[in-house]
Amino acid sequence: MDVTLFNTLGRKKEPLRPLAPGPVRLYTCGPTVYNYLHVGNYRTYVFEDVLKRTLKFACFPVRHAMNITDVGHLTSQADEGEDKMEVGAAREGKTAWEIARFYETAFLEDAAALDLDFHPGSAAPPEGSPGDVLCRATEHIAEQIDLVRRIEAKGLTYRTSDGIYFDTAKFPGYGRLAGESHVEGLKEGARVQANPEKKNATDFALWKFSPADARRQMEWDSPWGRGFPGWHIECSAMAMRYLGESFDIHCGGVDHIPIHHANEIAQSESATGKPLAHFWMHGEFLLMNKAKMAKSAGGFVRLKDLQERGYDALDFRYFCYGAHYRRQLDFSWEALDAAKTSRRRLKDAAAALKLKAGAAAQPAPAEALAAFSAALTDDLNVPEALAAVWETLRREELAPAVRLAFLREAERVLALGLFKEEAAKSLPPKALALFDRYKAERAAKNYAASDALRRELLDKHKIHVFETKEGSRWEPA
Ligand SMILES: [Zn+2]
Repeated sequence: MDVTLFNTLGRKKEPLRPLAPGPVRLYTCGPTVYNYLHVGNYRTYVFEDVLKRTLKFACFPVRHAMNITDVGHLTSQADEGEDKMEVGAAREGKTAWEIARFYETAFLEDAAALDLDFHPGSAAPPEGSPGDVLCRATEHIAEQIDLVRRIEAKGLTYRTSDGIYFDTAKFPGYGRLAGESHVEGLKEGARVQANPEKKNATDFALWKFSPADARRQMEWDSPWGRGFPGWHIECSAMAMRYLGESFDIHCGGVDHIPIHHANEIAQSESATGKPLAHFWMHGEFLLMNKAKMAKSAGGFVRLKDLQERGYDALDFRYFCYGAHYRRQLDFSWEALDAAKTSRRRLKDAAAALKLKAGAAAQPAPAEALAAFSAALTDDLNVPEALAAVWETLRREELAPAVRLAFLREAERVLALGLFKEEAAKSLPPKALALFDRYKAERAAKNYAASDALRRELLDKHKIHVFETKEGSRWEPA
């Protein structure tokens, strides 16, 4: 199945052609764990999850790396101000390390509630295999130092009193991702609070020195002096570590385009001489009261706030499906109510179809499935895919078992928990995680690995796994 995606680099839709045999390699910028995320942040994660699920639906196995920014993200994007981790530590009277682990756990709980298809193990999957990697910046300092050294060896760095900087004037095409006119605007903005030692307003820190008069909680020795890595270098270093020097897709929010991703491209490509990623994809903002939802703007809604008001995290997921990921979306409680009602109706429809369908499995109707996947594989047009779901459910001429089969297929991408109670009731979380991994390995044709997981499920969890025309199934052994 062909998948067409909008590439910010070049600003046009392109068919996905994986750069190398094996899984599609995907990097998504992860959270800075100094505070709770807001639902605006989660809109981006939902978009990335739909991308990943669509790739799998279209039979592309995925190797996915996501970082945890637990050091080096400064309060201003222009490398000024304090490290957000140390700010969080001071605010809460904890160490920066405690803050990082606390908010990382909070993020992973939210990710599970949103049913993000991201299930990293304790170790990265073997090179070239599909699977998920969660990587912390503080655990990849050596990789970051190594990358800065490579850039230094190419003559693109210089030293100031507070760090090692990247000289953006020496990287042709610095503004390629954001557009040259955007870079001009950035330069203007940066001049207002310019660091007088920087050669160009758009230059950014690769390594920052610890202040001479104060001890930081997070600092490391480096060839340039004691300090900590810049935020941008961590993503490049870890993406290359787990996905290679050139990979398929790099994602983030639109606010990453002008600085974070522009800088990732500049530093990576100057070090390797190769494109870092083929596709750069960006999710638009979630607005609140017509402004970008942001911690600083006061309009800050957490996923927990929604849950405390009686919404399921998956109601928010449905709400996100109300707009294409490249369009802004307005948050309102009324819109969330409407999403909640619609998801309830879909769940009810699933339950009713299950009652009527009987035991005989039927294939999903090909033309309905084709309409659903055509929408998704056309740059993730979820609103249209969802419309195809509603339309198919209304088609009374289709047998209940046929509509049910369709809904089960659609659920693989939409992940609205339409059959969730049934799965949760019957398979304990550890076994469910193993079963998910089994399916991933099988999809990637890693039969030795999937067989090992099948044996583990049988031996440790008394679950018998078997294959049907509709895919992998399980039953108590
Ligand atoms: Zn990043």
